[in-house]
Amino acid sequence: MNNPLISIANLRSLGASLSGTLVTAADHEYDDARALWNAMIDRRPELIIRAGELTDIPLALDFARSHHLPLAVRGGGHNVAGHGTVDRGLVLDLRACNKIMVNPSLRQVSTGPGTLLGELDQATSAHGLAVPVGVISRTGIAGLCLGGGFGWLTRAHGLTVDNLIAAEMYTPSGEKVRADARENPELLWGLRGGGGNFGIVADFTFSAHTLPETVLAGNLIYRAAHWRGALHALRDWAANLPDAMTVIATALVPPEEWELGTDTILAVGFVWADPDHAAGSACVERFTELAPPDVQDVAAISWPEWQSSMDDVFPKGVRAYWKNTGFDSLDDDTIALLVDKATQLTWPGTAFDLHVMGGAMGRVAEEATAFPDRSSAFWINIYGFWKEQAQDAHHREFIRGFHRDMSAVAEGGEYLNFSSTDAPTTGGFDALAVYGEQKYARLAALKRRYDPHNELRLNHNIKVTG
Ligand SMILES: Cc1cc2nc3c(=O)[nH]c(=O)nc-3n(C[C@H](O)[C@H](O)[C@H](O)COP(=O)(O)OP(=O)(O)OC[C@H]3O[C@@H](n4cnc5c(N)ncnc54)[C@H](O)[C@@H]3O)c2cc1C
Repeated sequence: MNNPLISIANLRSLGASLSGTLVTAADHEYDDARALWNAMIDRRPELIIRAGELTDIPLALDFARSHHLPLAVRGGGHNVAGHGTVDRGLVLDLRACNKIMVNPSLRQVSTGPGTLLGELDQATSAHGLAVPVGVISRTGIAGLCLGGGFGWLTRAHGLTVDNLIAAEMYTPSGEKVRADARENPELLWGLRGGGGNFGIVADFTFSAHTLPETVLAGNLIYRAAHWRGALHALRDWAANLPDAMTVIATALVPPEEWELGTDTILAVGFVWADPDHAAGSACVERFTELAPPDVQDVAAISWPEWQSSMDDVFPKGVRAYWKNTGFDSLDDDTIALLVDKATQLTWPGTAFDLHVMGGAMGRVAEEATAFPDRSSAFWINIYGFWKEQAQDAHHREFIRGFHRDMSAVAEGGEYLNFSSTDAPTTGGFDALAVYGEQKYARLAALKRRYDPHNELRLNHNIKVTG
């Protein structure tokens, strides 16, 4: 133990009170316990509490406070910016707190903060229901939801935050508060996009939506020669897309050799979230008539199967750097830029995802949630991951350069869940710029009320003094 303020007696007493386990650098599982999805974030916490039950949350809060330890909170550990850990501080890992209760008659589901998206999908699909979540089943619901939640049901049923109807949260002083439409509605508003700034969420309740036993889903895949045509077709298709159709177009270097070799491809992925598959197929045909794919892989598939189909492309322990922005028009200049950048994608792990926004997500009023900005018609997430530290500078520069060039044609905005941390080299996170004045003022007021001493600052931090 390096921290002289932590006595062996205090540690023993904490260990005895916890229902989970306490891990320090002296334990053989320390390296496993401190590891995040993004291996570029390599921190050495003083203590890691692997919570067993939710009652470990106030114990962790109290210990961190009384020992002046910075506290990092973690659910699925997928945070790209790496906020789920801290040097010389205390990490509260809630992964084991993953109880899920589905109420089919109310079409609601409550879940603990350690639940992974795949676990939630499995539990809800057993009742023919689904909550809109992200596209990789090993991501945690906690971080995803508190920041927004883009995925394959965004246009059909909104962001994850749009479906959050209640939460139970421990404030940094250990008080348990509920947030729903009647009790602390302003806090519920803040949790819908304001991140882990106000307390530690112990329980999330979501509205769930009826989903057919199988969804019509797939990828329409294009070689380089056809990218421009496919993106022009996407522009026209996106202008009149039914809500049931959510589309994410991805340019990527394939992780291994396949039918089209190893050359970079553009895959226009989609999910049709409606039982009428014939109508879904007709909708897809409107696109393929405009841009016949080189390969197409379309099937009626169960929701959990589709939701985990890309998991292995994103292995834990890679080094990652991501940037994103919103834009309104897939005009000729933007298409030319995207085609040019796609031809420069050179290593497996570099890609961009182009999310077609709008639909149910776009109809939620801007001020209804703290989610920063839902006005853009498209959102681009430019990402890279790799294995060797020696590649960090080159790959990060490629992503930054791509983002800089994209920013010239984009309206702007930042989806924080898709953001790496640049601080201190490039100024870091500017909450006022991301949220805008009105939302920032409301978030700062919540921060003053629930976390006046900024004890929860390892996040996209809202400053108490804002
Ligand atoms: C491979 C991959 C795929 C992704 N796909 C998508 C996607 O499809 N759609 C999308 O929208 N995003 C996606 N993301 C981004 C993802 O939403 C964020 O990385 C998110 O932070 C992950 O949540 P987590 O619980 O796994 O992360 P963690 O690292 O465990 O937590 C992230 C942060 O959330 C806060 N937090 C966590 N738990 C709590 C809690 N109980 N109470 C209060 N605060 C808490 C903390 O500040 C913490 O640092 C993806 C990320 C990765 C790496």
